[in-house]
Amino acid sequence: MTPPTVNAYYNPKLNEIVFPAGILEPPFFNPKADDAINYGGIGAVIGHEMTHGFDDQGRQYDEVGNLRDWWSPHSAAKFKERSGAVVRQYSEYEPLPGLHVNGELTLGENIADIGGVKVAYAALQKALAGKPQEKIDGFTPDQRFFLGYAQIWRSVQRDEDLKLRLNTDPHSPARYRVNGPLQDSVDFQKAFNIPDGSPMVRPADKRVNIW
Ligand SMILES: [Zn+2]
Repeated sequence: MTPPTVNAYYNPKLNEIVFPAGILEPPFFNPKADDAINYGGIGAVIGHEMTHGFDDQGRQYDEVGNLRDWWSPHSAAKFKERSGAVVRQYSEYEPLPGLHVNGELTLGENIADIGGVKVAYAALQKALAGKPQEKIDGFTPDQRFFLGYAQIWRSVQRDEDLKLRLNTDPHSPARYRVNGPLQDSVDFQKAFNIPDGSPMVRPADKRVNIW
């Protein structure tokens, strides 16, 4: 990546996460915005890259970047069970009639999205501890966090491009990068007081919980 690149990565061989200057700009990071918006933006991106270290591929590398199985058989079995739930969840999504997200192809990115939101939300709670939780434009900090997250994925895409990427891109389409993790998030449900059974709330027995 070059300095102006708007992207980020995790490299399991060096156990490193990298954020070029290009992504440290709105909507990902805005020095004029409050903490909640920025934790939902760049915070969730940082959490995403950290979680890649523990996704279906990253977990196969140890802390110095060697391809080595360091997991107990019990943990590995539980991980596979829970990541199976992620595959099933995303395979349900149908962005175009008859065309579904490929839950296997996008597994690592979806694990990183789900974990990234959770890690960033936990970090925001630490940052806010003991401080007044002021509303801005009528939104609580928790609500602004999730709005900040949704805003980083605003995009426009032609159906042809979407069709191609469903077959080739390990990332889920932008809409599901937002709706997937938030449908799993109890914190999101609480922040907006959403009743059980709503489209943005997955039933408790189907919710994914890995990291
Ligand atoms: Zn990623």
